[in-house]
Amino acid sequence: MAAESLDGKRAEFVSRAREAFDRMFGADGQNGLVTFAQREDRACEVTDELARWLMAEHIALDPSGPSSVEADCPLCSGPVRYESAAQAQVEVREFQTRRGKIEYRRAAARCPRCRKIFFPA
Ligand SMILES: [Zn+2]
Repeated sequence: MAAESLDGKRAEFVSRAREAFDRMFGADGQNGLVTFAQREDRACEVTDELARWLMAEHIALDPSGPSSVEADCPLCSGPVRYESAAQAQVEVREFQTRRGKIEYRRAAARCPRCRKIFFPA
């Protein structure tokens, strides 16, 4: 991936981290957090959000699948062919991580006969 694009992601991360810091400390350094449990809850909440963002953005850098598809439908076994990735369907997938649920987009193939959506290897 291009360095400028990574710089953009880094800037967004830093901005999110800054916001996380403010949600922890507020303007007065306390932000209404008194007990240890409150501090722990807030610290985990804001860092879990950062962790989920990092995972989703990292997954988004993966190649979105093969540029052309030649596969057999797992349901009806018929052939499914795409000339280019642009013809593929984009599916939003959910994934449960240790820090909560993340969503990411993935290129999928749709069988023209039975409409089954699947992810070619
Ligand atoms: Zn099919």
